[in-house]
Amino acid sequence: MSETVTEEGVAAWLRAFAVAVAQNREYLTELDAAIGDADHGFNMDRGMQAVVGRLDGPSAGGGGVGALLKLVGMTLVSTVGGAAGPLYGTFFLQMGKDAGGEPELGVAQWAAALESGVRGVQMRGKAELEDKTMVDTLAPAAQALSAAAASGLSLVDALQRAAEAAEQGMKATIPLVARKGRASYLGERSVGHQDPGATSSWLLMQAAADALASAASPSDPGA
Ligand code: ADP
Ligand code: MG
Repeated sequence: MSETVTEEGVAAWLRAFAVAVAQNREYLTELDAAIGDADHGFNMDRGMQAVVGRLDGPSAGGGGVGALLKLVGMTLVSTVGGAAGPLYGTFFLQMGKDAGGEPELGVAQWAAALESGVRGVQMRGKAELEDKTMVDTLAPAAQALSAAAASGLSLVDALQRAAEAAEQGMKATIPLVARKGRASYLGERSVGHQDPGATSSWLLMQAAADALASAASPSDPGA
């Protein structure tokens, strides 16, 4: 049985991410205190509260997966300060652009949208793999999702693979020297610390595995 990502699923994903960010606000801020300016938890929490506000608002919903993702992207760009706001904003805007007007997406289409989001982040922030940023989490996650889709895994299993790749990518930032963002000002002193943005991106991929999968609708209810 294959499954699809629906607009309701995307909304459930974003709500789950908002809860995870709120629960990990202090943790994200501690990570940013070590190699940045101690505002990542605050930034992300404010942004995701605004996103939940929009999801609850009258204009959200009904326009398809792409429209919802774009609304999220615009909300983050306009409410989150710092580097992460425009980067996460671009991520969701590009995902939304790729998803287009589809009412629901299969696992391969969803993987392609995620890949587009990651490319957007890289175009905007110019970070490569191993620069110790959110890209170290998102890029392997997108790659794992695409690979899982190509080998015919179900959406649930594919999202699980992506979350596992995200976690590995996040942990792999610990020994790296930061080459982008504020942490790069520390040079070698950034070694030994997990990147805050890579950590919030892991929460995002974990939220997808938790919420998107359980909200997924069977594409063929008769099967
Ligand atoms: P700021 O650094 O402006 O205080 P945040 O603390 O909210 O913003 O976000 C910091 C995170 O943003 C970093 O941990 C890193 O993952 C991510 N980041 C910073 N610069 C870049 C970049 N150029 N490309 C990708 N991610 C970046
Ligand atoms: Mg910061």
